[in-house]
Amino acid sequence: MKISQILKDNKVTVSFEVFPPKQWDKINDTKITVQEMSKANPSFMSVTYGAAGTRAGFTQEIANEVKSNGITPLSHLTCLTSTRDKIHSVVNELKENNIDNILALRGDIPEGFEFPDNMYFEHAYQLVNEIKAIGDFCVGAACYPEVHPESKNRIEDIEYLKQKVDCGVEFLTSQMFFDNDKFLNFYEMCRIKGINVPIIAGIMPITNAKQIKRSIELSNCSVPKKFHKIMERFGDDPDSMKQAGIIYATEQIIDLMANGINNIHIYTMNKPDVALSIMNGLSHIIDSK
Ligand code: FAD
Repeated sequence: MKISQILKDNKVTVSFEVFPPKQWDKINDTKITVQEMSKANPSFMSVTYGAAGTRAGFTQEIANEVKSNGITPLSHLTCLTSTRDKIHSVVNELKENNIDNILALRGDIPEGFEFPDNMYFEHAYQLVNEIKAIGDFCVGAACYPEVHPESKNRIEDIEYLKQKVDCGVEFLTSQMFFDNDKFLNFYEMCRIKGINVPIIAGIMPITNAKQIKRSIELSNCSVPKKFHKIMERFGDDPDSMKQAGIIYATEQIIDLMANGINNIHIYTMNKPDVALSIMNGLSHIIDSK
């Protein structure tokens, strides 16, 4: 099923992200994770693509597992370090496996990467165009409520986001954020600038102290005072931190929904217990209109 269809009737949706393992011999562990998470019946499940365009086969394998558990898969695909032939081969394989949804991404710039003169894919919008030319896919893309780290400013970032959407992107998934006001302001700005596709809010439950440091380094997102206080108080006690992280994420989602945001994506970090706890905390809310 196409994700555009799932998002169409403005109901509440909660989707999950899962990442494939780094080594093939762990693929069955990730499949078990998918099976566990499927019990919560997420609206769809996205499967990440290896950094620097690696391990395409792993993403395909896990996307197939998502599908065989009765959940719609969303396959991530990055282009910066890929050739056009490689992109065609990966997209055609998705087509053969009846995977309808692709999150089109540029990918991070690897350390020491030199941009060749005749580069085919420099930005995600070029990948969107390429995928649309290959087949009838529902294509999504990434967006950044606190501005992409390489962007000069928000205006430029949103202008390029609009260019990407105008190429045929049907939904956007946001980078994680911990401060809902940042997302709500960004959402409003997108609407003012004519970006009218569904914007799915990306929520990362922080369940251990080490994770937040790394997540912030990678994502450039700000951390509200309230969350710093939680870290100070519970950061050294793993069980308490996990419980506080789940509750913080659940409260964030409830507040977003109260503000009219109906589409949520949970960065599960492959932790079914965390994903299921959040879903339990939302059980009546998900069924509401
Ligand atoms: P782009 O849309 O190309 O934007 C990158 C930068 O270029 C921005 O600063 C933008 O403003 C600017 N820009 C865009 N178009 C133009 C233009 N025409 N001219 C000049 N500048 C322009 N990475 C992975 O490796 N694997 C994954 O599975 C993965 N999944 C992700 C999922 C989500 C929801 C998010 C938010 C990120 C994900 N990433 C993943 C990370 C992502 O690849 C990086 O954030 C990357 O740095 C940017 O990708 P993008 O698709 O947003 O790029």
